[in-house]
Amino acid sequence: MAKIFCVANQKGGVGKTTTAVNLAAGLAQLNQRVLLADLDPQGNATMGAGINKATLKETIYEVLLGMSDIKSVRVVSETGNFDVLPANRELAGAEVEMVDLENREKRLKNAMASIADEYDFILIDCPPALSLLTLNGLCAANGVIIPMQCEYYALEGLSDLVNTIKKVHANLNTDLKIIGLLRVMFDPRMTLSQQVSAELEQHFGDKVFKTVIPRNVRLAEAPSYGMPGVCFDPASKGAQAYIAFGAEMVERIKSM
Ligand code: ATP
Ligand code: MG
Repeated sequence: MAKIFCVANQKGGVGKTTTAVNLAAGLAQLNQRVLLADLDPQGNATMGAGINKATLKETIYEVLLGMSDIKSVRVVSETGNFDVLPANRELAGAEVEMVDLENREKRLKNAMASIADEYDFILIDCPPALSLLTLNGLCAANGVIIPMQCEYYALEGLSDLVNTIKKVHANLNTDLKIIGLLRVMFDPRMTLSQQVSAELEQHFGDKVFKTVIPRNVRLAEAPSYGMPGVCFDPASKGAQAYIAFGAEMVERIKSM
């Protein structure tokens, strides 16, 4: 049975998609069976996995609205060696169209039940909002991975996310927990990065992942080649860090 993780942070541009795509590729390199679900109408995870979002006949949108089965919608990331449940801008409509549907928060969870035993990990890339789409991700998941930049405003907004996770845990999904905070785009030369990083460790203890993802331009370049950074330049510091994070996650699920 797959362990299901949301990569979530309602802040924009903090490295959610880069984390979801590269963790998926890193886990695949560690021989894990992975499905990456793109829950963001921007479709960045889809593109980052090397899938052209513009030419898709069906996406996660049809799955959420009950018009198609995951098995017929999922595609393979040839570059990353994992499966993808893709998304494009069509998904933006789901936000409104799901409101009147039965079990609107659990549409993704229910849809995933039929394929969960085919994978070791299912990773869900969430949009930058605490929306009904993100809620579907949180209801489907066993845990949340929160990427954070070690900057002055990093903690701002974190309490909103933590409160949302607590509410979902109390009302909709007792399984849900915060797996950890992942420090991303880390620049060790910046004193501020060091300070914020130390603060995170102090406040959140073992909820902070050991792996730190450095700022690395190869990770930013990779999507334009339709490849996860882990596959685009495996020797780069960014790729190595995401493979190490994959190993940390493999270790982590042993005690779940
Ligand atoms: P959104 O909220 O829009 O979905 P996001 O949280 O998914 O954004 P990303 O798209 O992963 O964030 O990253 C934002 C930008 O930062 C991208 O241009 C990405 O290439 C770049 N980036 C992410 N991680 C790194 C890194 N470790 N080193 C260098 N650049 C990075
Ligand atoms: Mg994103």
